[in-house]
Amino acid sequence: MSIKIQNVKGTKDILPANSQLWLETESIIHNFMSLHGYKLIRTPIFEKTELFNRTIGEDTDIVTKEMYTWTDVDGTSLTLRPELTASVVRSFVQNNLQAKSPLHRLYYIDSSFRRERPQKGRQRQFTQYGIEALGSIHPEQDVEVILIAYRIYEMLGVKDLEVHVNSIGSKDSRTNYVNALRDYLMPYKNDLSEISQNRLHSNALRILDSKSDKDKKVLENAPKIFDFLTKEDVKNFNKIQSLLTELDIPFISDSNLVRGLDYYNGMTFEIVSSSIGAQSALCGGGRYDKLVEYLGGKPTPAVGFAAGLERLMLILNDSMSEANNMIDIYIISMDDKSISSSLKIADKIRNTHGIKVVCETLRRSMKAQLREANKLNAQFVIIIGEEEIAAGEVIIKNMEDSSQINAPIDSVENYFGVDYEYK
Ligand code: AMP
Repeated sequence: MSIKIQNVKGTKDILPANSQLWLETESIIHNFMSLHGYKLIRTPIFEKTELFNRTIGEDTDIVTKEMYTWTDVDGTSLTLRPELTASVVRSFVQNNLQAKSPLHRLYYIDSSFRRERPQKGRQRQFTQYGIEALGSIHPEQDVEVILIAYRIYEMLGVKDLEVHVNSIGSKDSRTNYVNALRDYLMPYKNDLSEISQNRLHSNALRILDSKSDKDKKVLENAPKIFDFLTKEDVKNFNKIQSLLTELDIPFISDSNLVRGLDYYNGMTFEIVSSSIGAQSALCGGGRYDKLVEYLGGKPTPAVGFAAGLERLMLILNDSMSEANNMIDIYIISMDDKSISSSLKIADKIRNTHGIKVVCETLRRSMKAQLREANKLNAQFVIIIGEEEIAAGEVIIKNMEDSSQINAPIDSVENYFGVDYEYK
């Protein structure tokens, strides 16, 4: 008896109709990172649970309810990574990278896993790309990180981009601010949403992130983090803003922007686009100067961002061009015997020019093969049959203008040049 098994809720297959776009976008990201001097790092898909519990924060949504965690046979608690920063820093420390250079520019493209409620742009397995710049405490480094995040979207033509930037200061200014925020909110406790009421004690800063109108109203007159920053924090933040202006990166200074994860300090930023609906956050990041030390490394300031690839794909999908799915040549075999000759011709053309050539292997009728060539958007078809083989010639047909010529079978590859045009 057969059994039909479905994929796991919140996961998605990337099917051939889409995979080309994925490959191209990933390749753009790889090139873009390399252009800025960033090097790829790959870490394992799972880590000891403690790594995430201790770095992301015990009272965050990720740690309390979204991680895929299990106990291994030896009793170790393991977790599928819900994000990559903790893993990258773990690896940085473990492999003693800081001893090799004062500055490391690292990037990744990999899967992350969170047991969230799936919806458009939100999955349980999703792909993140991001960078971690480890070593510089200076605002130029913050700006380089924001610049890379922003320019990728700009280059890919993403519309309605908004860059939100904030500074949540050093740990001490943050502690003072959280106390002041809590004191302010306490009298309004019953006016807050249930989730914010729960956060009042465990993670009051997160209330600023709330999307609830009730909470927004209460927050209107709340103390602002900016008033709690040290002089040095303010100086840094001002420098970041002036550099962004010089680089023509439009931004909104947004005092309510706090990042959900515990390890951030100083600059935080987020890039959103209203063109992807409710899950409008494309990318988020900021500084995390204490994390390396916290994970046992030498004190190393760091700044980075993480961006969701699926959300970017939602936008690019809409603008995907036909060209992505084009092949150069389809070889039509008029009879079964000539298929073997078509395999040889295809092999020769691909090896000579590195262009996309597809042969018939289903032994279909000529009409069906022509239909297939059209479906694949072939620019040319080569037609071969017993008669052609006997005459030592094939027919090359230009699918755009329907013109055709005969070409010698032994040197058909010479009829295609670098521009994919036959002579
Ligand atoms: P975060 O670490 O939560 O700031 O996530 C960074 C980026 O990853 C977000 O801005 C999203 O683009 C993406 N992202 C986070 N969670 C998900 C998810 N469940 N599904 C798809 N993308 C996500």
